[in-house]
Amino acid sequence: MEFNSFYPPQRTLMGPGPSDVHPRILAAMARPTVGHLDPTFVAMMDEMKVMLQQAFRTTNPLTIPVSAPGSAGMECAFTNLVEPGDTVVVCQNGVFGGRMRENVERCGGTAVMVEDEWGQAVDAAKLEEALSANPEASVVAFVQAETSTGVVSDVKTLTEIAHRYDCLVIVDAVTSLGGSPLEVDEWAVDAVYSGTQKCLSCAPGLSPVTFGERALHRIKNRKSKVQSWFLDLNLVMGYWGGGAKRVYHHTAPVNLLYGLHEALVMLHEEGLENAWARHQRNHLALRAGLEAMQLELLVAENARLPQLNAVVVPDGIDEARVRQLLLADYGIEIGAGLGALAGRVWRVGLMGHSSSKKNVLVFLGAMESVLSTLGGAIESGRAVAAANKVLL
Ligand SMILES: *Cc1c(COP(=O)(O)O)cnc(C)c1O
Repeated sequence: MEFNSFYPPQRTLMGPGPSDVHPRILAAMARPTVGHLDPTFVAMMDEMKVMLQQAFRTTNPLTIPVSAPGSAGMECAFTNLVEPGDTVVVCQNGVFGGRMRENVERCGGTAVMVEDEWGQAVDAAKLEEALSANPEASVVAFVQAETSTGVVSDVKTLTEIAHRYDCLVIVDAVTSLGGSPLEVDEWAVDAVYSGTQKCLSCAPGLSPVTFGERALHRIKNRKSKVQSWFLDLNLVMGYWGGGAKRVYHHTAPVNLLYGLHEALVMLHEEGLENAWARHQRNHLALRAGLEAMQLELLVAENARLPQLNAVVVPDGIDEARVRQLLLADYGIEIGAGLGALAGRVWRVGLMGHSSSKKNVLVFLGAMESVLSTLGGAIESGRAVAAANKVLL
């Protein structure tokens, strides 16, 4: 049997993540591996921490990339902040709230669910009701940017309510960091986790997290040990927070961290607010193009997430066939619907480096062609023209 090197095809990644990794970031990851306690590497990590704090808009000293994907960031938040017997209010309006519930239960906690329909934002009034009915609750958790539906929820308001009931707040910002406004300090969010492969356009495999003072106090005063050795922040802090006396905890994914460093340098060069504005502008252009093709977005205007557009599949169109043709003929990957939305929507991502004028126009042109092929009543050229009006 013979084995050959793997050469992946060049795709345009416009699904729910990963997004296109910028060539500068790929190049950074190909640089020579050094030891993870090498003084040059330690200096790079210190710099990265400052850039991560800026991206999260926080001064939290405990702001680090967990050495594993977004799901590990989620586990890190729950395993450290939830103890057996705790009650946690989990707001669910898509796939990821369901995973939060799993996390709470696996930590020995009780999850009180606040459910909203898939495609709707988390309802602040329902959260308040749940908190007054469950005064023993100590944590509230919700997703800022629901990638499964394309909905953004109001972190500031939900956090204020949770704090009035003396709860810590865990926010999933995997798809929002670098893509839409997130103000960790101003909104006083206690624990936030994110990912590198969505709006930061780095390769998958790291989860930036930040924990504030109240969260840290809770972690340091736990009655029981954190059940995950790997994710126990008391131990991880010895490596990340140790300054010169950094101690070995696990071998950091050195080259992946070069990639994240480069991604954050690029975000810094662009400016965080400019990056938010770019995501919004390209979303509006995509929307104009979709509307010109008579395609509808699932989510109401006031809750739309610019970096993830859930597009309703029109009657009579084969949902999976459209994705197959986009991939085969144009190298464009978009996502399918998940769970309750399977078969009903396409998920078109405009995240990080994938959120570009070029991708919006190429996607709309390709979509016109594919839908025409499948018998849709499409007037060629209208979608691109409509998007161009927004982009000019
Ligand atoms: C992608 C995603 C995750 C999981 O991140 P992984 O890197 O795939 O583990 C969690 N929450 C949300 C909202 C996401 O979009």
